Amino acid sequence: MLKPKPLNIVRPKFPPLADFRKDFEAALKSGQVTNNGPWVRQFEERLSAITTAPALAFNSGQSALMTMLAACEVQGGEVICPSFTFPATPSAIIWARAMPVFADINPRTLVLDVNDVMQRITSRTRAILSVDAYGNSSDYAALTKLCERQGIKCLFDSAPAFGSTDLGYPNGSWADAQIFSFHATKQMPTMEGGALCSRDKYIIERARMIRNFGLDHTGVCQMPGINGKMLEVCAMIGCVQLEHYADHQHRTRRQAAARMSTALTGITGLTVAKDRHSAEPNWLYLPIMIDAVEFGLDRDLVVALLEDRGIHVRTYYPACHLMPAFWFPMVTLPVTERVAREVIALPLYNDMTTDEVDRITAAIKEIRDAR
Ligand SMILES: *Cc1c(COP(=O)(O)O)cnc(C)c1O
Repeated sequence: MLKPKPLNIVRPKFPPLADFRKDFEAALKSGQVTNNGPWVRQFEERLSAITTAPALAFNSGQSALMTMLAACEVQGGEVICPSFTFPATPSAIIWARAMPVFADINPRTLVLDVNDVMQRITSRTRAILSVDAYGNSSDYAALTKLCERQGIKCLFDSAPAFGSTDLGYPNGSWADAQIFSFHATKQMPTMEGGALCSRDKYIIERARMIRNFGLDHTGVCQMPGINGKMLEVCAMIGCVQLEHYADHQHRTRRQAAARMSTALTGITGLTVAKDRHSAEPNWLYLPIMIDAVEFGLDRDLVVALLEDRGIHVRTYYPACHLMPAFWFPMVTLPVTERVAREVIALPLYNDMTTDEVDRITAAIKEIRDAR
């Protein structure tokens, strides 16, 4: 029997070499391949035009995240973040010499529960770092208001959420600062890459220095820094990607998520995560939750049976507070712990076909019926 092509968890979409070959050759010939070259500056300008906030390009989402936290001077304090996230989030907080304080998530939207965040604010809290899980926007408006009242920084790890909007506002325009990732696994890849957006001139100026070893424009080191600079070739790819991400790629993803979600609604023991209704996520993945008792099979078995059918999924996100690096067993995060046990991230691609969507939903129903 002919085996169908495997469906991987991600299928990165890059522009053809012809679209940036001449520019790449010119950069190689000139020798200017990095260090804030013309393509990086152009990419930043185009990002700013979309997000409506000043933007700095980085060589990864993680270096943008580390820089954002250091630029906001969180050292010595606490930063509230979800445990339900990619481990990069609490890692960056510890790297910025602050303590992550984990808060629980909303069981439906899987982003930070604002009421739970409020319970965890102390005199040591310097910032809230919310995560736009799977591209679904955090409750930006409520978190911004809360932080203003408390006099703390409101930050977003929007690594998976470039292009998402909330209340009609583009992602990047919210709060004190936001970061994005353009890694190959994200929906607008530049191979490796990231960006920081902020309307706060002080944050942008500090971030600019931290990105370049902490050096100011005269070459004096003002603070410990990193090498966070984006390559020219990545910025060239980014400029081409920006011309397409919003139109068909974005629409395709959204339509695929809607079709998958509809087909999986009403199955006992299976819950499809919902977007916050004011938000338009980019849907990096479609998260579903499997209740082992009600569905009749546990999550890990469903994952294995999907793998057998050539459908590769992820058990994103883990509960970070239960991992050795961030071992905080004293914290109780009941929603996070349950969701981390039950969640499956289903793949969505920029060029996903309806046949591919139907293959995934049919496989899940077949697994359920055969249990
Ligand atoms: C992808 C991701 C990161 C890291 O971004 P890189 O570009 O891979 O460094 C950080 N936080 C979250 C929530 C992510 O999804």
